[in-house]
Amino acid sequence: MICKKCLKELTDDNIYPSDHRYCITCGTNHSTYLSERKQTLKSLREMNLESKIIQTKYLIKCAVMEFGLNKVYISYSGGKDSTVLSHIAKSMYPNILHLFANTTNEYPETLKHIRWESEENGTNIITVFPKDIHGKVWTFKKVVETYGYPMFSKRISNAIRTYRHARSPRTKANAEEYINRNFKKYDKYKNLPISDKCCDKLKKEPLRRKAKELELECAILGILASESYQREKDWLEYGCNVFYKRKDNQSRPLSFWTNDDILEYIKRYNIQIPKLYEMGYTRNGCMFCGFGVQLELDGHNRYQKLKETHPAQYNYFLNNFGHLMSKFEINVA
Ligand code: SF4
Ligand SMILES: [Zn+2]
Repeated sequence: MICKKCLKELTDDNIYPSDHRYCITCGTNHSTYLSERKQTLKSLREMNLESKIIQTKYLIKCAVMEFGLNKVYISYSGGKDSTVLSHIAKSMYPNILHLFANTTNEYPETLKHIRWESEENGTNIITVFPKDIHGKVWTFKKVVETYGYPMFSKRISNAIRTYRHARSPRTKANAEEYINRNFKKYDKYKNLPISDKCCDKLKKEPLRRKAKELELECAILGILASESYQREKDWLEYGCNVFYKRKDNQSRPLSFWTNDDILEYIKRYNIQIPKLYEMGYTRNGCMFCGFGVQLELDGHNRYQKLKETHPAQYNYFLNNFGHLMSKFEINVA
């Protein structure tokens, strides 16, 4: 193993104890850098809404200046965060392109909102459907049957898929060790059909393909660093506008917003969002997704809620995936 930064050979004597990707010197420097970044994020979050809007507009403008208006697009989910992003971006560039990935696992309220945005609110939206390179249509059900269910979290699903499909005993042993070290509690599910492939098949690949077809070079995303540990970690490393550093260029100009900012903006500008939020949902993601469901309160988890609010969709879910839920020990009744 070599240090990620200075490429020095890593040994027991020079490895940075809390991050084995670095030598002690680089690890220490990186940790100082991250502390400073945390402070920056804190200061950005403390700004008032007015200043945040100005900063967000500046970041969007940077993406447009860098790539050109016809080379950027809003990655649009129809949810409240991306609707706020859309509203700000459209105030600057009214016809800016939005791409919406219909995962075949959307709440009807999301689809209704997308139709409204496109047909009545003048938003320039292209909907992409999950098809593979040969034009074969993918659905959530097909993904689950082919690869496994997206359950618990992206990382756990990924680890279980790696374990189940390991090509050599050594890879299998490593994957098992990884599961044990990082999420011991989930070790008992490691032989069940769980996989993280769903997002790739239903969302990322169709969006990527359309972006390539239209020769788009940068996605503008309405994600907040506060949404998850992973998103915050990513912001600390890369910031809001990530150009030419990774495979895909991205602008995340709402990163430093909080959920309260989003709600305040919606109220202040009277923004229309899917009715789902009035039904007590705090997110509009995929209906049947299992990521994070184990952390929800039993009796009020997303599937139990679905039973009350969308009985037809719940029955479909139960008939097709109910047997898996009992294996995952998720209460759906
Ligand atoms: S959010 Fe969940 S259900 Fe939706 S595409 Fe991603 S993994 Fe699949
Ligand atoms: Zn180093």
